[in-house]
Amino acid sequence: MLSFPVTACVFGNPIEQSKSPIIHEMFAAEFGLPLVYTKRFAPKDGFEHSATQFFSSKNSIGANVTMPFKHDALKWVDSLSSQAKRAGAVNTIIRDGERFIGDNTDGYGLVADLQSHKVSLANANILIIGAGGAAQGALPALLDAGIKSVTIYNRSLNKAEELVNYTNRYAEQKASLYRLSAATFDIIINATSLSLNANLPDLPDTIFANNPAVYDMVYLPQSTVFMQRAQQLGCTNVIDGLGMLVHQAARSFYLWFTETPNCEPVYQYLRDLNKI
Ligand code: NDP
Repeated sequence: MLSFPVTACVFGNPIEQSKSPIIHEMFAAEFGLPLVYTKRFAPKDGFEHSATQFFSSKNSIGANVTMPFKHDALKWVDSLSSQAKRAGAVNTIIRDGERFIGDNTDGYGLVADLQSHKVSLANANILIIGAGGAAQGALPALLDAGIKSVTIYNRSLNKAEELVNYTNRYAEQKASLYRLSAATFDIIINATSLSLNANLPDLPDTIFANNPAVYDMVYLPQSTVFMQRAQQLGCTNVIDGLGMLVHQAARSFYLWFTETPNCEPVYQYLRDLNKI
């Protein structure tokens, strides 16, 4: 048990909106850990300086990293977990003496949240909409969970092609490009920011045939338009991204403290907070 105050933080730009301090302070309270967790704004070209400064204190045990620094963090750390390597991004830094390990817990968070909503991943055929950082970050954990195939759709076709090729380098050809067809899916994941502006992806309603589980990484006080569309078309297991946020944080917390926090009270707290 730690007896002295330890510090962690989240680096981002912007960073005001981050819920990470609330989440990690609730996790720490569960175990009576003396954690001080802060938000750290860094200039867009200033991640290296900010990280070096933060970790110059021996009490700094780790950090989270959010937009736009996940690639800077990948370069800054001394070594990478398999998740971070394949995700091509670091969202968690762990101090190991004088060295720093980069990990990526976003995919873990998504898989844990899907599982907590009784979505079976083994042998699942998945459609991922989007080919940005969130999609790439999610793919290693989905593949590790034993999915059968992943189809990728993105507005910018070249980015979807790049992500398919990149994924197939470690995923035994399980990734392919979306093509208009009668294909049905077990799980559909919206990994775009479209719902933030109440927009839908340019895909036919037939993707929702066969009652797939539907996940939108965006979370809002109300159901997103993507969730509403899925529900109108008969989908019965429709989930937003709040749980992913809490579960990815729980994994970071575990990597720092080897303690597994209870996500449910934190999730409920944030859900209530988000209603206001
Ligand atoms: P990126 O900027 O890396 O990627 C954005 C993606 O959204 C791209 O695929 C982009 O397509 C697509 N997109 C954006 N605008 C449009 C549009 N008008 N029409 C069609 N497609 C569009 O962002 P991230 O991948 O990092 O994040 C995506 C979303 O996921 C964000 O809203 C973020 O909040 C959420 N997220 C949630 C997490 C959680 O814990 N719940 C964790 C991580 C992310 P194109 O390539 O064509 O530009």
